[in-house]
Amino acid sequence: MPQTIDLHSHSTYSDGVLQPADLVARAAEMGVTALALTDHDEIGGLEEAQAAADKHGIRLVPGVEISATWRAGLTIHIVGLGIDPANAVLREGLASICAGREDRARRMAQALEVCGIPGALEGARKYAENPRIIGRTHFARYLVECGKVKDIHAAFKRYLGGGQPCYVPHEWISIPEAVRWITAAGGIAVIAHPGRYPLGSQEMHELIAEFKACGGGALEVVSGSHTPNQYKIYARYAAEFGLAASAGSDFHSPQESRCELGGLPPLPEGCIPVWRQLGLDAAALAPAA
Ligand code: AMP
Ligand code: MN
Ligand code: MN
Ligand code: MN
Repeated sequence: MPQTIDLHSHSTYSDGVLQPADLVARAAEMGVTALALTDHDEIGGLEEAQAAADKHGIRLVPGVEISATWRAGLTIHIVGLGIDPANAVLREGLASICAGREDRARRMAQALEVCGIPGALEGARKYAENPRIIGRTHFARYLVECGKVKDIHAAFKRYLGGGQPCYVPHEWISIPEAVRWITAAGGIAVIAHPGRYPLGSQEMHELIAEFKACGGGALEVVSGSHTPNQYKIYARYAAEFGLAASAGSDFHSPQESRCELGGLPPLPEGCIPVWRQLGLDAAALAPAA
């Protein structure tokens, strides 16, 4: 039986390509019964998503994916689930991250210009429907448009990814700060796609221990970014640290995403599903008839 709960997705309010209502409609079509919209550093799409979820009879979990920095410049994404979008601590915090994104975008455009690609700021802005959130995916789409690369994955590999010539280091907020905003807004903090971070097992232990110590609640165990072997590895980490387990596709686009909404297998046995703590009832757990 597929996983009908999908707790990680993006809309046009950050770097996804579907409007919140279209994202929710697609999720419903794919058999998703509970969807979290988790835009990067932004909660503006939640209202439209909620209205669409009501229309399609699925549960919307209000979420966000906060960009944080751990130790010497490693970006770690912290998903917040079940947050109150009206919370002032969270809203003010996210506004400060958006200001930093704008500054980073200018520096990225300068780096691209040095690499012989002028006009990238204006080019990327065309793809950033929400002017508050400009990020690397928008630049990647522009690089595809101007024929520099064949797809966005190649744009990260050649230009925008860590260690590539147009990668601009950026200091986001700390992990305790991200967890604080999420818990202040009544949400559960989740380390997103832990398998994506370039960490050995010692450092991974330290990261998870610090996250747990500051109030973190769950690890994303089943993720569109993980291999089946990584599902098992992160299920073991969750058990070891007494953390709940989350599952999310990290869907951005029908064309660009490798994993479809609701396209994931169930959590490995023995995991404590984070959705129990989110109060999702039996109706949300059952596959649509
Ligand atoms: P930003 O928050 O602006 O640094 O952008 C991060 C986003 O870039 C991630 O959420 C992904 O959507 C996207 N991304 C990062 N690495 C890759 C990659 N190798 N291929 C495609 N998209 C990527
Ligand atoms: Mn993204
Ligand atoms: Mn992420
Ligand atoms: Mn994401």
